[in-house]
Amino acid sequence: MKKRISGTTGLFALLGSPVGHSGSPAMYNFSFQEQGLDYAYLAFDVKKEQLPQAIDALRLFKVRGSNITMPCKSIAATLVDELSPAAKIVGAINVIVNDNGRLIGHITDGVGFVRNLKERGVSVAGKKLVIIGAGGAATALQVQSALDGAKEISIFNRDDVFYANAEKTKAKIKEAKPKVDINIYPLTDQAKLKSEINSADILVNATIVGMKPLDGKSLIDPSFLHSDLVVADTVYNPLKTKLIEDAEAIGCTVAPGKGMLLWQGNSAYTLFTGKEMPTKKYQAYEAKRESVQN
Ligand code: NAD
Repeated sequence: MKKRISGTTGLFALLGSPVGHSGSPAMYNFSFQEQGLDYAYLAFDVKKEQLPQAIDALRLFKVRGSNITMPCKSIAATLVDELSPAAKIVGAINVIVNDNGRLIGHITDGVGFVRNLKERGVSVAGKKLVIIGAGGAATALQVQSALDGAKEISIFNRDDVFYANAEKTKAKIKEAKPKVDINIYPLTDQAKLKSEINSADILVNATIVGMKPLDGKSLIDPSFLHSDLVVADTVYNPLKTKLIEDAEAIGCTVAPGKGMLLWQGNSAYTLFTGKEMPTKKYQAYEAKRESVQN
């Protein structure tokens, strides 16, 4: 790294809180180094209320691009100069590209989610999905699943500030894809959750439950799972959430959040650099590193 950083090195930044657990700096710095790009990527712990200042700093320091993580994705969409068509529908961004001083917001979470399933031989087309969550990641993957041909989406969320998002998402999806059947239920309706999972093809946790410090927790009673269900999680720290472990134990196909992270990062990398990220090479490098650590 010492040899790599110079006075002309372009900076990329992750903004959000917490960020200390994030896999993004390792992934992007590995890729920059692999492809001989004079860039560096750092994570900055920024609270929601500090985001306007952080976005000003991106402009001031001519930061080349940024990833935005929770809880800042929705507010970030209101602070950039322009939104990509998908980001406009979702109303949240996870990527900012600094195009000569003009900040353009993009969303790649949904694309990463669908690709992660595809890599495991699962398509969302024609499927019924039960998705827990109504925040930034949940909205992105609900919209992308609908755009990619999902037949039915049942959204569950607890009664908090995010619940209203689900109603807005439903309206936006209905506008773009009127035939998709979308229902929204409170997470407290466990009987409904059980029956919806029973008739679903794909179950997704898109909440923060399962992520540190909520690791070891799952919003899904394991008795609701069935072995022909595909179970995906957006949480990638820990690598295997309790939900993923419960699903594996009964023989479900699983898609942990790490794969989604890799593939959404792959899309962001292309927006940042115009190049394809060496994703498979990074996966192999990571697998080797993890096997040494374990
Ligand atoms: P967010 O803050 O926008 O949304 C949080 C969601 O969690 C909301 O639906 C909220 O209602 C729900 N929630 C919070 N506490 C809860 C609780 N105790 N019980 C039930 N529900 C609860 O966050 P986000 O940006 O959508 O991120 C959600 C998760 O997805 C995080 O773990 C994040 O790391 C992960 N994520 C992963 C990727 C990836 O590429 N794998 C990408 C984006 C986000």
